[in-house]
Amino acid sequence: MRLTSYQGPHGSRVAGLRGGQFIDLQEADPELPASMKSLLCLGTAGLERAAAALAKGTPRPLTSVRLLAPVPDPGKIICIGLNYADHARESGVAPPEEPVLFNKFPTALVAHGEPIVLPRVSREVDYEAELVVVIGRGGRHIARERALEHVAGYCPGHDVSARDWQLHKPGKQWLLGKTFDTFAPCGPALVTSDEVPRPGKLRIQFRLNGRTLQDSNTDQLIFPIDELVAYVSQVCTLEPGDLIFTGTPPGVGFARQPPIFLRAGDVAEVEIEGLGVLANPVVAEEA
Ligand code: MN
Repeated sequence: MRLTSYQGPHGSRVAGLRGGQFIDLQEADPELPASMKSLLCLGTAGLERAAAALAKGTPRPLTSVRLLAPVPDPGKIICIGLNYADHARESGVAPPEEPVLFNKFPTALVAHGEPIVLPRVSREVDYEAELVVVIGRGGRHIARERALEHVAGYCPGHDVSARDWQLHKPGKQWLLGKTFDTFAPCGPALVTSDEVPRPGKLRIQFRLNGRTLQDSNTDQLIFPIDELVAYVSQVCTLEPGDLIFTGTPPGVGFARQPPIFLRAGDVAEVEIEGLGVLANPVVAEEA
């Protein structure tokens, strides 16, 4: 099942996708909650009910609404840095021995099709294709063996990164470099876990204006998904709708010779096998 969110008159609404169209799940079943996060709080029973609503609802054209990120209001956006060995090496550091974490704020989220805005104060905005894990059932101290039971689904994500802020400010401000508004494109939809039997073996690609710049597989993750969920939950309670960006493969722009950075007019695409294509135009911030 493919689930996403769109802007309704009174806030975000959860929709299922079918045949290039969408079905408002609460319209199809008034007992379902209106928002994705509330739906995820209902756990497996909620998703089963959503699947039934999706099967019987009336589809409408996607062009009639404004799409949002699948979870538009997550409590946490947790990101893993340097989680592919070759990306660590191209970044000039040794592959880490424990997960490296940072975060983004929810104001960075944008949907499939929405623009990535190049900040006036950065000249080095880079791309990073990433698999995003969406937490379903929350928990603390989650055992690695049970960690995937806490995952509702997966979607393509883009960890847009202002390298001049991330690497060259005092103290190396990863948070600031990674959380400018629009720096967390996510979508087009959350694909539920039952349709992703092997999340640790998915081809992941980034294309800039149709040219492939990253092409790898999630089987190259240093710390796999179950280990990440268990690791993070040692520190903080994971809650329904929390997102984990799992890291990017090699081929990013700043490590190239000459470097490649995003420019106004570009189209950035993240494609993950079985999950779809997340495409975003790039624009300059208005003066
Ligand atoms: Mn990243």
